[in-house]
Amino acid sequence: MRLLDVHAHIQQHEPGELEGMLARAADAGVGAIIVAGVTVEDSRRCIDLAERHPSLFAGVGVHPTDLTGPLTQADLTALDEMAEHPRVVVMSEAGIDHQPHVLERSRADGREWADIQEEAFRQQIEVAHRHGLPVVFHVREPGDDPAAGSAWPVALRVLRESSAGDIGGAAHYFQGDLSTARKVLDAGFMVSLARPLLRLSRLQEVAARLPIDRIVIETDSYPQPFKKDRAKWTEPRHALSVAEKLAEIRGLTVEMVAERTSENALSMLRGRGEQVRAMLEQ
Ligand SMILES: [Zn+2]
Repeated sequence: MRLLDVHAHIQQHEPGELEGMLARAADAGVGAIIVAGVTVEDSRRCIDLAERHPSLFAGVGVHPTDLTGPLTQADLTALDEMAEHPRVVVMSEAGIDHQPHVLERSRADGREWADIQEEAFRQQIEVAHRHGLPVVFHVREPGDDPAAGSAWPVALRVLRESSAGDIGGAAHYFQGDLSTARKVLDAGFMVSLARPLLRLSRLQEVAARLPIDRIVIETDSYPQPFKKDRAKWTEPRHALSVAEKLAEIRGLTVEMVAERTSENALSMLRGRGEQVRAMLEQ
């Protein structure tokens, strides 16, 4: 079973980069990649790529830091329509982001950004419910301490209140502590680990103690021009290094980790995962 990168944004790279990235991912044993949209337009781009590349599948959603105000009826209708597309396998990326530079942006209508984010997250979970789409969500705290932040309590409350656990999904780019991870699992979600696992010892300790059947792997790849050396940009091929690290932490072979995490992701995708399975088993 090959690896599944459950969350990337390679629709945002220069189109000319795509073939090379996909070839390098395939060489690293990555059989499929879910490309997540951050706006309605960007979600359309994800679907467009997924229609043209058999190893790509799409997520649709509006990222909390990309909101320009409350979601409009037109946005919700567009998300509803896109959610029906056969290459769309998750609602992503949506969530809660309490970083100061996000919450402190100015607004004309007097509403707080935190409220707007919460409403948009709830509305997108409703779309996901209507179409049976798992929710792969984003949570970012105002500071580095996941136990002291304000975003996780809001995200978990919205997920619980909207019964999102019934459709499942994953906490993407998870960097929280063990107690937060347990709350994510209890709410009905997987924990998605990315490259921070390679350098954060506290995250390695969390990864050592999570049930192995609740972990999925991702890269969150997006263009990183701030890294001058192009070879250092995160790409879907790096799902392999995350799997290798997890194998080392858990005393498993990388093949076992690939098998387990891909099966976990397929069970998360439920009915939407059949075409993904075909790619991973090739
Ligand atoms: Zn992302």
